[in-house]
Amino acid sequence: MRMRIGCGFDSHSFKEGVPLVIGGMRIDHPEGLAGHSDGDVLLHAITDALLGAVSAGDIGTFFPPSDERWKGAASSLFLRTAMEEIHTAGYRIVNVDTVLVMARPKIVPIAGELRASVAELLEIPAGDVGIKAKTPEGLNQDGVAVAHATVLLESLVKEDGPKVMRAAAEDDEVNEMVESLVVDVRETSALGRKVPVFDTDDLT
Ligand code: MG
Repeated sequence: MRMRIGCGFDSHSFKEGVPLVIGGMRIDHPEGLAGHSDGDVLLHAITDALLGAVSAGDIGTFFPPSDERWKGAASSLFLRTAMEEIHTAGYRIVNVDTVLVMARPKIVPIAGELRASVAELLEIPAGDVGIKAKTPEGLNQDGVAVAHATVLLESLVKEDGPKVMRAAAEDDEVNEMVESLVVDVRETSALGRKVPVFDTDDLT
């Protein structure tokens, strides 16, 4: 079974006067997270991990902050796009693990709800989602929320798939096919979108 791994990171500053949304959940707190979208730091990190796992660029590639369409957008939309990318590439999620780093609010009391919310959005069992919470001890970052995410994907193609293909085609044909696939992967995402390789402009 072919597997791929992806990692994601994001950070947003806390800001008064905006709702706090983490993991697709509205959380009761005096401050929210500043951002062009709803500032959902956890979904942004998971979105980047998914896109990275299939070499499809990053969240800024698909949803540039310069685009007015994404102003105040729900980050579940970004996650949905990343899920389309991995499905089109022929993969499914095995599990997701995350770390949230913030001084306030306390995550532990709502970690179960957060896990259920993220699992529902990813369409996987809650047992395949890890939510860990840390406080930024010694980092002097109490006004910032940080999220790290790691995802593991497995191929939807069965083990004997390539063998059948190889038996049906001459060696030259197989080589030609592989070369064309490699060129496609380098220049476009799974859905055929043009992907700049080193675009890391993520202010979403
Ligand atoms: Mg972000």
